[in-house]
This record gives sequence, structure tokens and C-alpha cells, in this order.
Amino acid sequence: MRKILASVAVNLVRIVSLLLATATTMALSLVLVFLVPLFLQFFYQIPKSWNHNGPIATDPIFWAFWLSISFGPAVLAFLVPPIGNWIQDQGFGVRKPSVRENAVIAQVNEKLTVAAKQNKRRIFQVVYRMMDDDDTNAFAYGSNRIVFTTDMLRKYAAFPNQVDMLAAIAAHELGHHKNLDTFFGTIQNFLFYPLHLAIFILNLLFSWIPVLSQINFLFVAVAQIPLFLSQFLSDFTRQMVEYRADAFAARLLGPKHFADILDDFGKTERWKGGGVLVSMQRSHPPSELRRDRILKEFGHLVSSDRLHAQTVE
Ligand SMILES: [Zn+2]
Repeated sequence: MRKILASVAVNLVRIVSLLLATATTMALSLVLVFLVPLFLQFFYQIPKSWNHNGPIATDPIFWAFWLSISFGPAVLAFLVPPIGNWIQDQGFGVRKPSVRENAVIAQVNEKLTVAAKQNKRRIFQVVYRMMDDDDTNAFAYGSNRIVFTTDMLRKYAAFPNQVDMLAAIAAHELGHHKNLDTFFGTIQNFLFYPLHLAIFILNLLFSWIPVLSQINFLFVAVAQIPLFLSQFLSDFTRQMVEYRADAFAARLLGPKHFADILDDFGKTERWKGGGVLVSMQRSHPPSELRRDRILKEFGHLVSSDRLHAQTVE
């Protein structure tokens, strides 16, 4: 029952978030719709057909221009996934793995492929990327990307079960792909491009002119209210999204390695502050509680003496 409710909540929030992001993007794209032809006319003779005849709301050119600015980047990213992935690669600042990093990643990938066959799960070909960062982290995006930070790879290189640990992490990230979290994340990401461009142009034009700069500031802030609302809503379901990816990882790889990696995460986890708001601020639920949930749901699949730690150590 809890799973069904979580699924309903996650999908409902996704749809509402997407609608709110769409509304914000369309509102701010209007700025581009009106400013781009104004700018272009300094360089080109604008065709007569571009001049709006009659009410603007019935002008097909206006609509074509408006919709293609608002949704063009998102549509392009999905029609041509390599372009969408490449643009996001640049955005996140990731790189290809080196030869020796690739050697580890190939073992991780092999481990996942074998586990998928054993547990009758279908997985797709992932493209791994590296991020040079001293944060121990991994994440997924685009249509097929999984990223490890250099620190993550190096930290677990010191472990005897390095490949098992990294495979558990990759399995969780694969869960984000399989549960369509990355799919919706990518749509949102590309919906924001025209929005950011519009804000950039508005600031460029008005942020240095007295009075107009204040009006501009207010306009940009108010126009983004739906977006803040969508982020606020997503924060409510973020932990459910993580638990769902955990469950996918445990089904794919078995609970042992995933419970072990959460045991390790818990040792370095620090969070300041407390109360209800903490659950909205942190990106993942507490590792100890994630581990509990995995063992509660999948613990029967592994004997407890095979788990890395059953008591706090
Ligand atoms: Zn996650």
C-alpha cells in the first residue's frame, strides 16, 4: 500500500512540477519572442509576414515562434538523445573515464550485467562519465549517463570489495533511469534553457538602468514563482524517489552489497539542524534508515552473517 501511495505521489508531483515549469518557461519565453525580432531588425530586413496582422493570439507565426522557443530545446534533446546528453555533459562538467578508471568501470558494468541475467531484470547499456570532484558522489542524468566522482572511485579502490560497492551505487543510479526520474529531470532541465536565456537578456538590458532595474527584478521574481512552487513540491517526494531507486538496486543486485554500501555511507554522514525541514533539505534519506528499509523488504534474500555489519561499529 505504501508503495502504491508513494508511486501516486511521485507521479502526481512530477506532472504538476512539469506543468508549473512549462508555465514559467512559456511566460518568460514571451520576452524572447518579442525581443529577438526587435534585435534582428538591426541586421536583416524582417519579412512583412512577421508583422502581426490582427490580434496576436490568432497569429500562427507568433505561436510557432513562441512554442519553438519554449519547447525547442526539450524536443531536440529527446529527438536526438546524443545531442541532449552531450549538452548535459558540458553542463555538469564531466569527462570520459581514463584507461585505468575504465578498467574498474568495465568490471562494475560486468557485475551489473551478470546480476541482471541472474535476477531476470532488463538493463540497458549505460555510458559512464567521471567528474573531477572531491565530493564522494554519483548521479544519473540524460538518457543513459551515470557519473562517478573521482573521489568515489578512489575511496572504494581501497576496499577489497571495490567492484561490489561501486556496482551497488551504479545499480541505484540505474534505478533512477528505470524509474524515469532522469527522464523527467532531463525534460525540466531543457525547459529551463529558454527561461535562463530570457532572464539573462532581461538583466543585460535593464539591470543597470535605475527604476527599470527594480521593475525587472520584481518581474523576474514573480515570473519564477511557479518554478519555486514546483521545486518545493518535488522536495516533498525526493526521499520517496530515492527509496524507489534503492529498491530497484536491491532487486537487481541483491540486498547484500547495497546494505553494505549504506553501512559505509552512514559512517561519514553529517547533517546539521533538525526537525521536519531536514527531510526536505537533504537529497537522500538517512543511510541508516535506507539500510533498514532494504533489509526489511529484501533481507530474507541474504543471511545476516553475510552482511558487512549487523551491529554499530
Ligand atoms: Zn539517488
